[in-house]
Amino acid sequence: MSCLFCKIVAGSIPSTAVYQDDLCYAFADIHPRAPVHVLVAPRGHIASLSDADDGHRPLLGHLLWAAAEVARVKGLAKGYRVVINNGDEGGQTVDHIHLHVLGGRPMTWPPG
Ligand code: 5GP
Ligand code: ZN
Repeated sequence: MSCLFCKIVAGSIPSTAVYQDDLCYAFADIHPRAPVHVLVAPRGHIASLSDADDGHRPLLGHLLWAAAEVARVKGLAKGYRVVINNGDEGGQTVDHIHLHVLGGRPMTWPPG
């Protein structure tokens, strides 16, 4: 297993858990870009949003629900941002699909 986030999901690389269930694992980003910065990743490996197929549609919905649950757990009642970076030009650096949940400060638009 060479994928960094597969190792984090499996617990062989330590992380700070925020939320988890049978389908996904949410953990604190190691280089937070906001006071709250949590990553939501499926337990199973999917390289990117582009690599998700028709059979992943329920899982993708679940990941979005889990992002909202993370925001509730972290008390982001004033708002937050959910981001998926996809591919090189999308800024993706880890090839295991994940949602960023960012909050705890006002967000700017457009993102860089
Ligand atoms: P991407 O750039 O692929 O959208 O997001 C990857 C994220 O993973 C980055 O925000 C980066 O800080 C985070 N990250 C990279 N390596 C690790 C790690 O070993 N542990 C944790 N918790 N986060 C990581
Ligand atoms: Zn993986």
